[in-house]
Amino acid sequence: MNRNTKIMSKKSCIHQVTRAGEWDFDVVSSTSGNVYNVTALKSGQYHCNCEWGKRYYRGECSHTIAVRQFVANESDRKLSVWCNPVDAKRQKRQMSANQGVYFTSRPA
Ligand SMILES: [Zn+2]
Repeated sequence: MNRNTKIMSKKSCIHQVTRAGEWDFDVVSSTSGNVYNVTALKSGQYHCNCEWGKRYYRGECSHTIAVRQFVANESDRKLSVWCNPVDAKRQKRQMSANQGVYFTSRPA
């Protein structure tokens, strides 16, 4: 993962996410206006059809992170994104990780 997670997470907050189905989400990019389709996988990971997602099937891009935040909001939780486990653990919150990106969530 060679992207700046902080920038990704900032960007992901302003992407517009709509639920397209139980497992599918449409994400309108805040930068390009392109619409990407993000699919929830049974593993708890997400797949995005952007260029990054094509290279890293279960990787995290700003679109999958936007969807994770959207899903967290639906259950009244707020998701934070970290690029290393030390920062994530410091939150002492429920934590998950995928491909070098760490997530913590707390009640909104
Ligand atoms: Zn993407």
